[in-house]
Amino acid sequence: MRLIMMGPPGAGKGTQAKFVAEHFGIPAISTGDIFRANVSKGTPLGVKAQGYMDAGEYVPDEVTNLMVRNRIDEDDATPGFLLDGYPRTLAQVEELDGMIKFTGHSLDAVVVLTVDAEEIVQRLLQRAEVEGRADDTEDVIRRRQEIYTEQTEPLIDVYRGRGLLIEVDGMGEVADVTERIFAALDTVAQS
Ligand code: ADP
Repeated sequence: MRLIMMGPPGAGKGTQAKFVAEHFGIPAISTGDIFRANVSKGTPLGVKAQGYMDAGEYVPDEVTNLMVRNRIDEDDATPGFLLDGYPRTLAQVEELDGMIKFTGHSLDAVVVLTVDAEEIVQRLLQRAEVEGRADDTEDVIRRRQEIYTEQTEPLIDVYRGRGLLIEVDGMGEVADVTERIFAALDTVAQS
């Protein structure tokens, strides 16, 4: 399975990505997590990414693309993968198409979690308290939402046009959302 998990910041992508990846026995690849790990270790990649992340901006495509390319080249991603937080720009969509084509496979589905805006701000502010992420302040949250609307939302139509889009209601209990995703994806897995 080659899957993408999409949704606005705070939609619950990371939480759901882990369950879905486990269900299908594939790695969940979160670009946000990889960036954060590099920032905390102070690697050259982390140094490049940190300023953008703290401001709620996207890390430049060439940095992100190379990082994803290297990650999906690893052995554990041979049977498939679930991408969380990538692609986020139209240029990244093209880049990913090339990477997948190169392996002789294709994308199976793109899951989009839909959550209303009010709920999202509440979740992110709560996460700020629990995890203390540097980019979960109110100003930066707003900036991340703007960038999502400008740069990432258009990807939804692209994948809908390819017949790959699965929209899932991301509101309510975590376990209920997981059930909805599994129900939608099991039909894909069988096809
Ligand atoms: P969110 O909770 O907002 O979905 P993530 O944890 O996925 O955030 O990502 C955190 C930050 O990492 C983003 O705001 C951005 O700066 C950077 N980042 C993650 N994925 C990408 C990407 N595909 N392209 C550019 N920047 C990215």
